[in-house]
Amino acid sequence: GSATVTVLGLGMMGHALAKSFQRNGYRTVVWNRTAAKAADLIEDGATLAASVGDAVAAGRLLIVCLSDYDSVHEILDPLDGALDGRVLVNLTSGTSAQARQTAEWAARQGCVYLDGAILGVPAAIGSTDAEIIYSGPRGAFDTHEETLQKLGRATYLGEDHGLSSLHDVAILTLMWGILNAFLHSAALLGAAGVRADAFAPLATRGVRTVSEWLTGYARQIDARDYPVLDATIHTHLATMAHVVEECEAAGVSAEIPSFVKALADRAVAAGRGDEGYAALIELFRADSVTP
Ligand code: NDP
Repeated sequence: GSATVTVLGLGMMGHALAKSFQRNGYRTVVWNRTAAKAADLIEDGATLAASVGDAVAAGRLLIVCLSDYDSVHEILDPLDGALDGRVLVNLTSGTSAQARQTAEWAARQGCVYLDGAILGVPAAIGSTDAEIIYSGPRGAFDTHEETLQKLGRATYLGEDHGLSSLHDVAILTLMWGILNAFLHSAALLGAAGVRADAFAPLATRGVRTVSEWLTGYARQIDARDYPVLDATIHTHLATMAHVVEECEAAGVSAEIPSFVKALADRAVAAGRGDEGYAALIELFRADSVTP
């Protein structure tokens, strides 16, 4: 028969994961605390397990996607020995410390463990618009890569189980930075009666242009050397003052631009005014943060 995959957790995301396996012809065994969420999956041929134990017994490859790591432990910890010989892929969001602790716990259960993080929304699952990053034993990833690719682009980051959560958090930081900047600039334009949908194309091109600078910045960051290629921090700082002034005049929040300006002020105070913008990373590094 066809390969079996077990999916534990049928929330917004777990449901999309199960659906994707099913669509790709896998024998899909599902379990959810609230069984009703499995209704349409059962209709399409999935098997609803009566208990977590039954779900785990159904096949070797287990995918879990719950609200948080505490929930994962709540359902799996009581399974005395049942995880022995299984491959557990945990796609629940958390911190790198939680991922590493769960890896140690899994080793005690005799279970092969991959930690993962989903970069994408449920509707993107099953397409390359969803990227899922994995960390843990390379061999386990290689063995199951073809199956995992059914959920979205699967990227392996390394043996340290904390790497996927760590990268997830980094990507979230990037995402909120971009989204907050867009919301803020839309509010500034909105105060002047400019509609966000009129601004969106210009904003999209702006984000794309800036995204093309990242590789060059990365080289400077890794070298810890920030030669100025376009504009000095001094030049940026002068423009930052205009942004704060414009926001204050429009009566919109000046919090984000004031913070941005304060960072550049600190870089200048540290003697970096004639360096390139990437030098600001020195304000964020662990060895420069004062407790
Ligand atoms: P939902 O709130 O839709 O689903 C949560 C799931 O966890 C449900 O299956 C719920 O069961 C289950 N659950 C929660 N607590 C317990 C518990 N104590 N015991 C058993 N089951 C429990 O969340 P999502 O599906 O959206 O998110 C799941 C994970 O995926 C999260 O870690 C999230 O960060 C991550 N993720 C989600 C994205 C999204 O866009 N939705 C994007 C990227 C990652 P029940 O149905 O019975 O309540």
